Amino acid sequence: MELYNPLIKSTNEILSKGKPKTWNYTPGKAWNDLGSAELVLQKDAAYELGALGLGSSNYICPTTSSELVNKDQILLYGPDLKDIKKDVPFARIVLLRIGAIEGEDEEVYRALKDIEFCKYHVYPDGYMVRMSPESHREQVRVSKKAVKKGINFEAVGNRYIEAYKKDVNVLNVTVIFITDPSLDFNAMLENSKKADAITNTLTHIMEGLPTDCTVCQLKDICDEVEGMKELHFGVGDKGTNEHH
Ligand code: SF4
Repeated sequence: MELYNPLIKSTNEILSKGKPKTWNYTPGKAWNDLGSAELVLQKDAAYELGALGLGSSNYICPTTSSELVNKDQILLYGPDLKDIKKDVPFARIVLLRIGAIEGEDEEVYRALKDIEFCKYHVYPDGYMVRMSPESHREQVRVSKKAVKKGINFEAVGNRYIEAYKKDVNVLNVTVIFITDPSLDFNAMLENSKKADAITNTLTHIMEGLPTDCTVCQLKDICDEVEGMKELHFGVGDKGTNEHH
């Protein structure tokens, strides 16, 4: 699975202008999870990450490349939760290394769908996540209580990694949080749009879209993303063989 590799490289480039704090995955340090969605009222909130009017972005890049993703770790660019005093821009980017035998795109795709689903199953205590798939934003209301209890990105990141690693196909997870306003949030937003476009195209391909580029509405993205056409024709061929 190499479709998202250019996005990982672009992410690395955007982030090369900042300096991260890094933590290795330590499950014992994961922040308490409530198991279901919690409502943090505005009056109980210390601040909002990625509040409206500020930069905000969220995307996931799966890959099979161990060169690009080879650690379970949390990276933070910008101030940690205890040091934030007012609304700040926010991005959460997840890089996943998926284990897949070469050519088993169907497997990778299924894993991807499971993983997409898993993002809705993380409910850190006092950390109310609101996602907006259409705008690619992720806003988080952090409660005053959680800040008092010492919530931090290491603990929240550990919770996310634990959730992603429940999927046996996930070998490594790097969770990146960005609160540094000097980093390029517009570029991150562009990347999240691309990541979504790739996932949508992949979905159509895997659900049996006919291989006819001349009438296909996805041609633009296929022209841009290396490997997409090969993937479709590979899947298409398999389909044809099965019918004979
Ligand atoms: S390979 Fe062709 S038919 Fe398949 S999704 Fe891309 S443009 Fe459409």
